[in-house]
Formats: sequence, C-alpha cells, structure tokens
Amino acid sequence: MDIKNVTVAGSGVLGYQIAFQTAFHGYNVTVYDINDEVLEKAKAKFDILGEAFIKDLNATQSQLDEARGRMQYSADLAVATQHADLVIEAVPESPQIKTDFYHKLAKVAPEKTIFVTNSSTLLPSQFAGETGRPAKFLALHFANEIWKHNTAEIMGHPGTDKEVFDTIVGFAKTIGMVALPLYKEQPGYIVNSLLVPLLTAATNLLVSGVSDAETIDKTWMVATGAPIGPFAILDIVGITTAYNINKMAADATGDALKVQTVKYLKEQFIDKNKLGVSTGEGFYSY
Ligand code: NAD
Repeated sequence: MDIKNVTVAGSGVLGYQIAFQTAFHGYNVTVYDINDEVLEKAKAKFDILGEAFIKDLNATQSQLDEARGRMQYSADLAVATQHADLVIEAVPESPQIKTDFYHKLAKVAPEKTIFVTNSSTLLPSQFAGETGRPAKFLALHFANEIWKHNTAEIMGHPGTDKEVFDTIVGFAKTIGMVALPLYKEQPGYIVNSLLVPLLTAATNLLVSGVSDAETIDKTWMVATGAPIGPFAILDIVGITTAYNINKMAADATGDALKVQTVKYLKEQFIDKNKLGVSTGEGFYSY
C-alpha cells in the first residue's frame, strides 16, 4: 500500500501540526476544515510553526517553502479527499462530530483510502462501523508539538487489517515519528495509561496534605532518575486539562478527594490564571 497523498481533516491544535509535519517529510497534503475562513487561519499558523521547525529542527527556509508548496486546502470534503491514500482525522473530540464526519467521509472518499483517527480518548471500534471500511480504519495518535514530542501511537480495533496497520506504522516512521504499535485497544493508549495515574497520585498526595509539590517532584526525580516530576509535567500539560479531568470525575462519582482537588485547582490556579507554562506560572514560575 503506497501512500503519497494525505488529507488532514481538522486544522486545529493538532491537525495543522500533523499537516505540516507530513508535508515537511515529502507528502502531498490537503488540509480540510469546515470553511475557507478556518483554512485561512491555518495558513497563518504555518508561518509560526515554521519558526519552531527552524529553532528545534534546524530546518532551512527552502525546506519550509517546499513543504508549503506541497500543501493544498479545501473546505469541500469530496475535493479534499479525491486523491487521498490516507485521511488523518483530527476533528474535535466529540463522538457526535466524529460520527457525522465519518458518515460524510465514507460517502466521498475513494475505496482504497485508509482512515486514521487522532482521537485521544475515543476508541477506533466506536467509529469503525461508520467508516464504510472498518478493515482500513485505525488510530494514529500524536502528541502536542509533534515535531518535538514525536510519539505516534498506532492502535487498531479488532477488525483492522494487519497489512493496513503495518502500512501506518511504516508511514509514521517516514514522517519523523517514533512509531509505537499497540496490539489491542486501550483507552488512553500507552502514554496516558501511564501518565494519568502518576499525575492523579501526585495531586492526591498534595491535596490530602501528605507533602508539597516540590518535595513530591523531588522524590520522583531522585528515586527514578526522571528529569522532571509530576507537577512540572502538569505545568506543561496545562492545569486547565487537569482541572477538566478531575471535574468530570468529581461530577460523575462525587468522590470527596476529587471534589477537594477540583476546589484546590480552581482556587489556587484557574481563578488566578496560573495555568502552567503557557501563562508563565503554575506549580512553578517560568
Ligand atoms: P481543535 O478543536 O483545536 O481543532 C479541531 C478542528 O476541527 C478545528 O479546526 C475545527 O474547525 C475542525 N472541525 C470541526 N468540525 C469539523 C468537521 N465536522 N469536519 C472537519 N473539521 C471540523 O482540536 P484538537 O485539539 O486539534 O483535537 C483534534 C483531535 O486531536 C481530537 O480528537 C483530540 O482528542 C486529538 N488530540 C489532541 C491533542 C491536543 O493536545 N490538543 C493531542 C493529541 C490528540
């Protein structure tokens, strides 16, 4: 299965990074989004992303120009996918939006086209039936700032064709990713299956008054050799995300410690706009 033409659906936080990374590595990329106005905004974001590629990857201006030259844009899904060997879906993390998107996509994309979802929390088996080609559907999950944090978790559902899976593992490598295959469906993939319990345990220790953030981080770093601890990681992820995850759990379960955590994060961080690295202050100052 030869991949040359890639369509990236959704040009938001992750989609525009995936599109640029893919074009930078030599593929023809079509960016699809809901209207031309959103696509115009995406084009402006590529200029800023180019600066990051120069700084972090020593990319040259001509490499960036060539990447831009390989990119096209369309708000018409049939046009955007007419030559696609692969569609990478990065539309909002809403089951309804994704279901509607796959219904539309299944009608217009060529039969040969492989579909992958970048969903962080939803499983491919949830949408396989909507794609019209379950054997050619799986997850390819990137991390934010993909040119630096270049993990690509590849996860099929029980009906994914093995050859298609291997094709996507190969594709991920060709766009500069560290390809990380999962052999069965796992909510949170590998990275969040490891990270979320660590971050939860750290906030539980803090909120229950067992120790302070710096001591908890220091313990983790000295004991395991990790370069940073869970609270420094929370600053990078963004405290809003931690707040939202805890809020959902608190609302669903009423668990007293979760409720206390939500109150703590709201009063100490959210209300003071201390959201982590992005605002210059969270558990630490930057
Ligand atoms: P986002 O909200 O920043 O961007 C979503 C984009 O999809 C927007 O440009 C929006 O205009 C577009 N869109 C909305 N409806 C659409 C439709 N029907 N068809 C096509 N495009 C549509 O979201 P994001 O943070 O980029 O997340 C996208 C996906 O990537 C989600 O599944 C999310 O779980 C996953 N993801 C996000 C991150 C992250 O750090 N933000 C990391 C890994 C994976």
